[in-house]
Amino acid sequence: MFPVVNAFKCDGCGVCITRCPAQIMGLINGKAAYLQMLCEECGICAEVCPIDAIRFELPKCYDAAEVHEAYQFKR
Ligand code: SF4
Ligand code: SF4
Repeated sequence: MFPVVNAFKCDGCGVCITRCPAQIMGLINGKAAYLQMLCEECGICAEVCPIDAIRFELPKCYDAAEVHEAYQFKR
């Protein structure tokens, strides 16, 4: 699961940026963005956004079976 930022909603307050434990978030044109390759998939950014501008979801290119296998391997 990865964060998806709604650029229309995000007001660039920076709360998610300061709370990201991997320190991989920043602002691009005043909107939150992050480096997906380095994301730890913790979900904190989505939790702390005061206006719910971040959803935490499966990337559309992944199929559910592959994700299930990948997470089993991680444990
Ligand atoms: S899910 Fe966690 S590591 Fe990834 S961008 Fe959000 S806060 Fe950072
Ligand atoms: S906390 Fe929400 S509104 Fe603030 S910069 Fe992050 S995504 Fe945007």
